[in-house]
Amino acid sequence: MSRALAHIALFLVFSPAGAADPAPVPRTAAKPATAVAESSLATGSGQIRQFAFDGDPNTYFASEKNATKADHFTLTFDTPVPVKSVRVATGLPKGGAKLDAGVLEVSADGKAFEELAQFADGAAHGAPKGKVKAVRVRPTDDLKHPLVIREITVDADPRVAVFHHPIEFVVNVAAAPDMKEWANNAARVCERQYPMICEELASDGFAPLTVIQMTLRADYNGVAEAGGGRITGSVKYFKAHPDDVGAMVHETVHCVQMYRGRGNPGWLVEGVADYIRFFKYEATKPRPLPPERAKYDGSYRTSAAFLAFLADTYDPQIVRKLNAAMRAGKYKEDVWKDLTGKPVEDLGREWQKSLAK
Ligand SMILES: [Zn+2]
Repeated sequence: MSRALAHIALFLVFSPAGAADPAPVPRTAAKPATAVAESSLATGSGQIRQFAFDGDPNTYFASEKNATKADHFTLTFDTPVPVKSVRVATGLPKGGAKLDAGVLEVSADGKAFEELAQFADGAAHGAPKGKVKAVRVRPTDDLKHPLVIREITVDADPRVAVFHHPIEFVVNVAAAPDMKEWANNAARVCERQYPMICEELASDGFAPLTVIQMTLRADYNGVAEAGGGRITGSVKYFKAHPDDVGAMVHETVHCVQMYRGRGNPGWLVEGVADYIRFFKYEATKPRPLPPERAKYDGSYRTSAAFLAFLADTYDPQIVRKLNAAMRAGKYKEDVWKDLTGKPVEDLGREWQKSLAK
C-alpha cells in the first residue's frame, strides 16, 4: 500500500465518526466535580433545571405543572464527594411557591436516599455524613403550586462546579418514540459539552441560549441541521448511526455560534463546528488528511483540520477570534492577515506542506 493510500485508508476509518460520550476523565482532588440536574417534572416557561444550581439565586427552576408527592428534583454528581453542607432555597424571587411540605435527601450511591432535613418556610439545610453522590428535593404532599427551586448550595471539597452556562435540551421524539432513549442520551451529552462549547466560542457581551429544542423527524432526509435554537435530526439516519452523537454536538455548536449575518463563508462556519466537534469533543484526534485532499476551504472536518493547524502554529485563540468576528458580522478576508500576518491562501498552502512531511 502506498503512503498516500495508507493516509486515505486512515481517513476513511476515521470517517464514520462515531465516538459517543467519552468516558469521564478521572479527576484529581483539586478538580471540581460536575453535576447533572434531573426532575420528574417538566420545565415551565424557560425556567430550566440548571438554573437551580448556577450560583445565582435570582434565576430558578420552575416546574410547568403543580408538583406532587411522587415528584423529585435531583442533582447527581459525576463522582461521590465529601459534602460539608447542603442548603436549598425554594420559592419565587417575588415570593410565593415556597416548598413547605418537603424533604431534602442525600444519597451515597445515587440510588438509595435518606432524609437530611425537612423544609420549613421554603428552605432546608443539613450536614451529610460521608460522601454524597446525589442530592434530592422531594415534596411530601401534593402541592397547589409548581416546584420552584431558586438555588441549591453545596459546600464540598473538592467542590462541585455550578452550571456557568445553564442549558436545557428539550427533546421531541413524537415521530419516533422508540428513539426516546437515544435522543435523551444525545441531549445529555450535548448539555455536558455546552460549557466547553460556550468557552471555546466566548465573545464580549455574548450570552448563549439557555434552551435548545432537539427534534427527530421522520420526513427529514439530511443528517441534522440547526437554526434559531432548534436542532432537527433525521430518525432514519440516527437509527442507522446511533454512535454518531457527535453530529448533535456539531449542531449544538451552530446554536452557540448564533451568526445572524450572511457574510460569513459557509466553509468556515462548518469548519468551526467540526473543529469543536473533532478537536475538542471527540475522544480520538482525527488522522492527518492526505495533502491532496487538504483544501483549507473544503468545509467540515477538512477546514476543521486547517483551523487546528492554525491554532497549533499561530494562535491557540484563533478559532475564538474568528468566531467573534463572524458573530459580530465583521468577517472579511483581511481577518486572516490581521490574526496571522498572512492571507488565507498562503496559510492553506503552508498547511498542505505540513501534511506532506
Ligand atoms: Zn453544520
